[in-house]
Amino acid sequence: MRRLLTALALILTPSLAVAAQPILLKPARVWTAEDAGPPHAGWAVLVKDDKIAAVGPLASIDATGAEVIDLPGATVIPGLMDLHSHLFLHPYNETSWDDQVLKESPITRTLRAGVQAKATLEAGFTTLRDLGTEGVGAADAPLKKAINEGLIPGPRLFVATKAIVATGAYGPARRNFNPEAEIPQGAQEASGVPEVIKAVREQAGAGADWIKVYADYRVGPDGSTQPTFSLEELKALVDTAHSSGRPVSAHASSDEGMRRAVLAGVDTIEHGYGGSEATFKLMAEKGVVFFPTLTAVESTSTYFGGYVAGQTPPTAAMRNADRAFKLALKSGVTIGMGSDVGVFRHGDNARELALMVKAGMTPVQALLAATAIDAKTLGRGETLGQLKPGYLADIVAVTGDPTQAIEATRSVVLVVKGGQVVRRP
Ligand SMILES: [Zn+2]
Repeated sequence: MRRLLTALALILTPSLAVAAQPILLKPARVWTAEDAGPPHAGWAVLVKDDKIAAVGPLASIDATGAEVIDLPGATVIPGLMDLHSHLFLHPYNETSWDDQVLKESPITRTLRAGVQAKATLEAGFTTLRDLGTEGVGAADAPLKKAINEGLIPGPRLFVATKAIVATGAYGPARRNFNPEAEIPQGAQEASGVPEVIKAVREQAGAGADWIKVYADYRVGPDGSTQPTFSLEELKALVDTAHSSGRPVSAHASSDEGMRRAVLAGVDTIEHGYGGSEATFKLMAEKGVVFFPTLTAVESTSTYFGGYVAGQTPPTAAMRNADRAFKLALKSGVTIGMGSDVGVFRHGDNARELALMVKAGMTPVQALLAATAIDAKTLGRGETLGQLKPGYLADIVAVTGDPTQAIEATRSVVLVVKGGQVVRRP
C-alpha cells in the first residue's frame, strides 16, 4: 500500500519528482551573473537534482552518466526574475482595471493567474515578486503553494497578498460610482497607526512574504498624485513588517511619497517617476532598491495616450519615467528589474529589459538587475540569481548573446527550474 501511495504521489506531483539523471547543458557560452564581465565561451553547466553541481570549461566537468542537452549558438544565463508582477491582472486594453476588480469572479481571476504563471515560467522568468492581488484577497498565497507542491507549473513566487492603502485613496474610486453602492476595493484600506499595524499583521497572517504599501496615489482634487499616508503611519507600518521579518515595497510616483517612504525605512520603491535628485540620492544612501516599471508606462501610453511605438513621440508620462530612470542611474541607486507585468501580457516580461537598455543601462547591467540584484533584494542572493555550484538550478538558455543584444532574452529555448527541465529545444 505504501508503495502504491508513493507511486501515486509521484504521478500527482510530477514537478516534485526531481530528475535522477544529472543534466549537462552545452551552450555556445555561459554568463554566470557573478560580475559585469562577458560570458565564457565553451563553458558548460552540470545540474544534479535541484542544484547546480558545476560551472566551467566543458573539459573540466565530469559529466559521467549525464543527459547532454546541446544548445548550439545559445547563451546559458541564470533564470530571470521580475520583482514587480501582478499575476491576477491581465492587460488593461483587454479589460479595464476597474472592470477586472468589479466584474470578474475571483475564481476566474485565480484560474487565469495559474495560466499566466505558466506563460511566465516558459518565457524564462523563474522567480516573481507578485505585488498584490488587486481585489482577489490572499489568493496569491495558495497559488504559490500550488506551484511549490508541483500541482501547476509556475515561477517561484514571493507574494504580498492585499496591498495596504490609505482609506479612500485607491480604486475602484468611489467618486465614479453611485455613492449608495458598496464598491469592492483592490487593496486593504487603513488609517492611523493602530489600523496600519493591524493591516500588516492581517496580511502577514494571510501569507504575505512582503508587505506592499501605496505611499501615494491619485488622491488630489484634480486627480493628481499626492502622498496618502503620513510619515508616522508609514513608520509604524514598516516597523511592524520588519519586526515580523518581512520587507516592505512602496508604490510611490511623487517625490514626496517616495521621500516619506524612504524616511520610513521601506526596502524598495516602485515606479518613482517623479523622483528628485535629492530623493534618489537618499535612496542610494539608504540602500533602497528602485523598480522603474518602464513597460507599464509605455503600455498605458499605448492603450490610453495615443502612443504608437516607432511612429509617435513618447508621451509626457514616458518622458518622465525615462528622466527618473536616468537620474536614479546617475545617483548610484541600486536598480532592480520589475516591470508591473499584468498591465501588459504575462510572458512579455523581457520588454522591461529592452526598455532599461534603451533608457541608458548596458545589456549586462539590465541582466544583472534581473538576476543577481533581484535575488539579493529578495534576500536570496546566496541561493538564487547566479550560476554557481550549490545554487538552485534555475537556468535559462537564449538564442544569441544577451550581453550584446538584450532582445535575445525574448528568444528563450530552454528553461530549468529547481533542476526540472520546463522547456527544451
Ligand atoms: Zn504594480
